[in-house]
Amino acid sequence: MTLAQRRILIIGGGFSGMAAAIELRKLGAEVDLVEIDPGWRSYGAGISLGGATLRAFRTLGILDAFLREGNAADGVKICLPHGPQVAELPTPRLAGPDVPGGGAIMRPTLARILADATRAVGTNVMLGSTFTSIAQDAEGADVTFTDGQRRRYDLVIGADGLYSKTREVLFPEAPKPRYSGQACWRAVLPRPPEVTGTTMWMGRVKPGVNPVSKTHMYLFITEHRPNNEHVDPARFPTMLRELLADFPAPMLQQIRSSINEDSQIVFRPLEALLMPRPWSKGRVVLIGDTVHATTPHLASGACIGIEDAVVLAEELARTAEVPDALRAFENRRWERCRMVVQNSLRLGEIEIEGGDKEEHGRIMRESLMALAQPI
Ligand SMILES: Cc1cc2nc3c(=O)[nH]c(=O)nc-3n(C[C@H](O)[C@H](O)[C@H](O)COP(=O)(O)OP(=O)(O)OC[C@H]3O[C@@H](n4cnc5c(N)ncnc54)[C@H](O)[C@@H]3O)c2cc1C
Repeated sequence: MTLAQRRILIIGGGFSGMAAAIELRKLGAEVDLVEIDPGWRSYGAGISLGGATLRAFRTLGILDAFLREGNAADGVKICLPHGPQVAELPTPRLAGPDVPGGGAIMRPTLARILADATRAVGTNVMLGSTFTSIAQDAEGADVTFTDGQRRRYDLVIGADGLYSKTREVLFPEAPKPRYSGQACWRAVLPRPPEVTGTTMWMGRVKPGVNPVSKTHMYLFITEHRPNNEHVDPARFPTMLRELLADFPAPMLQQIRSSINEDSQIVFRPLEALLMPRPWSKGRVVLIGDTVHATTPHLASGACIGIEDAVVLAEELARTAEVPDALRAFENRRWERCRMVVQNSLRLGEIEIEGGDKEEHGRIMRESLMALAQPI
């Protein structure tokens, strides 16, 4: 059976699920995407993207929209807590010689760009609904939905994120998400003209800023928090300002004084999950955070989820039998996704221990080189 004759269900309309819909529709498959959130919302923080993500955007056909609405720039500036720049990490131009090696955008903006592309290619998007059961036989999968519908598919893709119900149903013995001992703060602020790309300051914590548009940037800080306890949102501005108190750098102090209740502060305990292979059972396959949710130390979680979609579509186009294509997909994806999750966790551990700066630098360099390889 050719891909054009296949009926495919995608469960979850996050970055990974939408990317899968776009790639599979381009190849002619009939695609339903079911998203549990009736508003198909994305929360208001910035997201940093490396060259590999921009390369995947080019494949998806959304690179121009990203360059118009987000911000692209080369390199990562590394500064001391009192301000002087001590290094600039290179970011290879993977999306082409004319496209900078990284960038950032607001999550809702990226979600809208992907949602528009998902609909434009003719995906049947079903919002505010989800599956209730999946029954497989050798030829396909019968799926029932919360609105009472029942449909048959050649392939079901679980892209429903870290707390995936598809994973729970398919692999009840799979590992559960694990708290990493760190939490991440993000805020959206007006962008001073001198902030043109990613800039980070090396101190007890490592704050960074990255422009998300011509007018705004986002601030990110990862903090050691041994216990995953609730933090009252009313305290967010004060706590975020406290984290920046030890940084005399004039730009950071200016940023610190501009933080207030309107800064769209998001506080998120960091959890990770790496599900061992197999990532598929019969005609159901899991992609994205569902099987490899990473902490953000390499800013590559969205990247590997979107790449999953690209590789899955390539393997389905290449291979006649769905189970063979799913095995080929896993074989191509495992090492890269394992590397991102485990190296990110190790970077977090080194930060928590106040450990070896050389190991930290080596892991960063090796990971960035690995991410630059073709997928
Ligand atoms: C603090 C933090 C910072 C990060 N920063 C970066 C960064 O800078 N760069 C980067 O590349 N990555 C970053 N990441 C990682 C990135 O956000 C994720 O890897 C990415 O969003 C995963 O996308 P996904 O589509 O696989 O899953 P999700 O985004 O979780 O999407 C899952 C979708 O499925 C839907 N859903 C859930 N359950 C069901 C169901 N039962 N039925 C139907 N639909 C369902 C959800 O509503 C959602 O729309 C960060 C992560 C964190 C936690």
